Amino acid sequence: MGLDGYTRTCGLIGNPVEHTLSPVIHNYLAANQGENLVYVPFRVAQGRLEDAVKGAYALNLLGCNVTVPYKSQVIPYLADIDPLAARIGAVNTLVRQEGGFKGYNTDMPGLYRALVRDGVNIKGEQVIILGAGGVARAVAMLMAEKGADRIVILNRTIEHARRIAEEVNAYWKGAGRGGQLAEACALEDWTSLEGSYLTFQATNVGMFPAVTEAVLEDPGFYRKVHTGYDLIFNPSCTRFMGLVREAGGKAYGGLGMLLYQGVIAYELWTGRKVTDALADEVYKEMKARLSGENRAKEEV
Ligand code: NAP
Repeated sequence: MGLDGYTRTCGLIGNPVEHTLSPVIHNYLAANQGENLVYVPFRVAQGRLEDAVKGAYALNLLGCNVTVPYKSQVIPYLADIDPLAARIGAVNTLVRQEGGFKGYNTDMPGLYRALVRDGVNIKGEQVIILGAGGVARAVAMLMAEKGADRIVILNRTIEHARRIAEEVNAYWKGAGRGGQLAEACALEDWTSLEGSYLTFQATNVGMFPAVTEAVLEDPGFYRKVHTGYDLIFNPSCTRFMGLVREAGGKAYGGLGMLLYQGVIAYELWTGRKVTDALADEVYKEMKARLSGENRAKEEV
């Protein structure tokens, strides 16, 4: 569809934004559904976030995504906030409403939709989360909400893992085994864990171009993993995923989460539903774009 006077604009607020895949998601969906909408990345300099949000509203933008480093910083500039986003303390989607933008978090429901799509069960599971940053915290909250039986947060800096475990336990008092749903563990103490786990890889280790790295290398760890979910989406198959598969487990990457956080944002902006078949088409497009970009960077 050509751009004209009726074209609605959505965008991405972040810094940097140059390597984002979000335009692939939204422009593909809009073109496929005949929606007169265009999606553009906007690099916002430090200190200019308030101007950017007010400017986007004044320019009649339909909505925006928000990415690093602004997901929490954007909250004071919103007219309203969805309760889930308030609880997570991070907003990645702004939806236009009377008087300002309303903030949502579609990362967590996006991950959940990807997990459901991949047939991954959460209820009653023992879960390991590797890492204790923003994404690990959201995963821990999601696991608690969806009925995991035990959540072990393994991190290089144990204080960060403790902080998340305390937050989860304070919110879900009395849940899980012995009334203590989440616990913190130092990364090197994985040997003390018994049983078989659904495991999320939520550290930065293994991201392109460091594709030969994994946060844990010992095959003994991977024998405890029946399903491994790497939140990293570039590369689409990480070393962590390879190690899970070598040990006989199932492995998935973070591209599905990225796709579905975008799909949910698009549905909020347009009021349309995206079918799984259409989401699969977008997924293929994202994967092709990623491998093309990685090849180009390697050739430089
Ligand atoms: P973050 O807040 O910066 O947290 C990073 C975590 O990784 C921290 O726990 C940190 O440990 C750990 N870490 C970093 N380098 C390490 C190393 N060399 N050895 C051991 N641990 C290390 O990051 P985030 O925002 O949570 O993002 C985490 C991952 O999720 C990233 O890989 C990102 O690409 C991915 N992600 C995916 C999506 C998606 O849609 N699929 C969306 C957002 C993010 P310390 O606590 O010890 O510093």
